[in-house]
Amino acid sequence: MPAAIDALPYVRAIAPYQAGKPIEELAREHGLRPESIVKLASNENPLGMPASARTAIEAALGDLGRYPDSNGFELKAALSRKLGVPADWITLGNGSNDILEAAAAVVLAPGRSCVYAQHSFAVYPLSTQARGARAIVVPARDYGHDLEAMAAAIAPDTRLVFIANPNNPTGTFVTAAAVSAFLERVPPQVVVVLDEAYNEYLPENLRHPSIDWVRRYPNLLVSRSFSKAYGLAGLRVGYGVAQPELTDLLNRVRQPFNCNSLAQVAAVAALADEAFVARSVEINRTGMAQVTAAFDDMGLRYLPSHGNFVLVEVGDGAAVYRELLKRGVIVRPVANYGLPQWLRVTIGLPEENARFIAALREARAGAGA
Ligand SMILES: *Cc1c(COP(=O)(O)O)cnc(C)c1O
Repeated sequence: MPAAIDALPYVRAIAPYQAGKPIEELAREHGLRPESIVKLASNENPLGMPASARTAIEAALGDLGRYPDSNGFELKAALSRKLGVPADWITLGNGSNDILEAAAAVVLAPGRSCVYAQHSFAVYPLSTQARGARAIVVPARDYGHDLEAMAAAIAPDTRLVFIANPNNPTGTFVTAAAVSAFLERVPPQVVVVLDEAYNEYLPENLRHPSIDWVRRYPNLLVSRSFSKAYGLAGLRVGYGVAQPELTDLLNRVRQPFNCNSLAQVAAVAALADEAFVARSVEINRTGMAQVTAAFDDMGLRYLPSHGNFVLVEVGDGAAVYRELLKRGVIVRPVANYGLPQWLRVTIGLPEENARFIAALREARAGAGA
């Protein structure tokens, strides 16, 4: 039967995003109790959402009959104070994923190209492909971004570059000197998205002066997320920071109500909740030490990570993944990132990490590793 839908060929060619397996799905498939399942597959905050955000959401429930504030006044005002930029430099998104999509919508189309790194975030190929643009995938260096090679790879038709720092799924990090040298080399018609979804997990001395770079480069867009250290993944809220010209363009392509009311009030509360973020960072620091010590003990290679997750080399990633599932532990296979030997594990609560470690020891035996 001929396809009745005359879809764009580049849309047909999209490989859909593979999300972490939901807890309820594994419970159904393996007859497990949902409460017994440990999910370390989507870099979610193991503390859940901040209580301050819950309170803000409860107070806002009565207004759900109305549309959200399309301009996100309160949240932009709070971000503006925190970041030291005018509110008209800020774009709110339905997750920071939405900001990445908006950037692609502003500058990508057939006949144009986008540069990103091998083993980088899965949304970059998706956003590029969905616009019919050509992807220029630059080989990684030591599993991370090779910014010199990326600058050299920029073609006459390139209009967008994605850089994740820290990178997901590898946890690698590029220095401020490398980013700064890169920005200096990029032609002005090329928009650079510096995706800092894990920024809050970095120690103070590794925080780049990204907002200063935005002041200097009109083609730079810094994106950040409330899904990770702020614990609001389910609400979908993130933001971009860029100079007014680029911000105005993003504002033209975003949906008018892309950031919902509950997300807006929760993000305002979470942004002010420095104690929650500090606890999240601390639990990640100790959990990372717990998990990597176990890898050391098992003789497993892993990549030192700057995020709330770690990539570990297990041999047959798919087989070990399945063995872990049988034991009620969900991690993330990364064959789709060109890393079939590896698994990505989100750092959880101490007891969740311990469950994962115990299951991994058994799984490796079970998978014949
Ligand atoms: C998680 C993640 C995001 C975005 O998450 P949102 O929930 O859409 O804010 C963006 N970039 C990277 C690299 C991520 O890992």
